[in-house]
Amino acid sequence: MNLKTLKDVEVEGKVVLYRAPYDIEIVNGKLEDTKRIDFTLPTLNYLISKNCKIVILTYVGRPNGKVVESLKTNVHAKYLSEKLGKNVEKLDTCFGEDVLDYIKSMNTGDLLMLENVRFYKGEIEDDDNLARELCKGMDIIVFDAFPQAHRKHASTTGVLRHLESAVGFYFEKEFSQIQNIISNIKRPFISVIGGAKVSDKVLAIKKLAQISDLVLVGGGVANAFLLEQGFNISDSFVENIEVNKASEKPKSIEDLVDEIVSDKTSVDFVIPDRVKGVEGGNIVLPIDFKVEINGKAQSLLIEELKDINGFKIKDVGENTNKVFADILASAKTVFWNGPMGVFEQEEYSFGSRNILKFMKNFKGMGLIAGGDSIALVDKFDNIENFEYISLAGGATLDMISGKKFVVIPYLSK
Ligand code: ADP
Ligand code: MG
Repeated sequence: MNLKTLKDVEVEGKVVLYRAPYDIEIVNGKLEDTKRIDFTLPTLNYLISKNCKIVILTYVGRPNGKVVESLKTNVHAKYLSEKLGKNVEKLDTCFGEDVLDYIKSMNTGDLLMLENVRFYKGEIEDDDNLARELCKGMDIIVFDAFPQAHRKHASTTGVLRHLESAVGFYFEKEFSQIQNIISNIKRPFISVIGGAKVSDKVLAIKKLAQISDLVLVGGGVANAFLLEQGFNISDSFVENIEVNKASEKPKSIEDLVDEIVSDKTSVDFVIPDRVKGVEGGNIVLPIDFKVEINGKAQSLLIEELKDINGFKIKDVGENTNKVFADILASAKTVFWNGPMGVFEQEEYSFGSRNILKFMKNFKGMGLIAGGDSIALVDKFDNIENFEYISLAGGATLDMISGKKFVVIPYLSK
């Protein structure tokens, strides 16, 4: 798969519809996290250097086709103005005379921020009239919305139907680093999976279990695996699938895990003290834990779980950390999604920090993905120290699972 990139199209002096990935949570009028903007600055600076007029389009949150004051793109425009050192004008609309007039008044290298396109009902319906309106006055689309690449919306597939397009540098980086991980695997390939939401990760874990040499499982995901394996996990957190997937036929967490491990020819359970010499098995569960009992942190071995109650598994234990570090030491490719424990609490952050420390010094091909996993990097280190970062969450897991993105046919050579 070859993407059409900025090197493949002529943008010099053009009016560019820049589809940005700026779906960023706004809390009390402030951007919760600016990385999705920071990561797009190379594309924007390139377009500025090419004397483009840059018209920025994004959606933010779930306003359900209505104007929601707290979800306007003014904060995005303000932050961009600061970062680029030049004014980014914001209009309260996405198309029409105001937009066309403003574009006429722009100098080359100027930027304009359009309103949150989800204020229009037609956006999530991929309404073709809205798509055509969005394209009026534009010469070409530069598409950087990798996290939205799986969505069939007017601002994604819609506009791409009507105008020439290419991906921006941010899209290209996200896409190619995942493509490298899954199709250019240097072995051993070790995946590390944690976090809370098994239901979001089933397909990706299933795929990773097929293509990785080992999948190390921690966090709330490990709790679900332990439950399915018949271990006593007492009051530990396990995702409540029926709440999360209310619209679908409810499935038990055991069924979901079973789905992951149903392909027994390539997937089997391995308890780490038996890892060495085990053939054909590649899912590695923790052998010990940091649990919370009566509000206090305590260490428990896996064989002690059956004798005790009233505990919550909140992190992997010290022995597991050693085993995971030993396994990772031989890796040439590493994919990591999801914290190993409740890292928000210091005493349960060591499993996650163990992986983080490894990733920081890792010289092979790596990728850290997932909203909370990136938050973890931010909390204990600096994102700039890590070469391979994905900000896309769901889209990254989708691509790993082998799903085809709806925008790709338009953005390929
Ligand atoms: P990501 O966003 O990186 O994909 P998730 O959203 O799946 O990760 O999960 C992150 C959350 O999982 C964190 O808030 C963390 O506290 C929680 N978590 C990890 N391990 C446990 C555990 N053993 N018990 C409860 N919550 C956990
Ligand atoms: Mg998350």
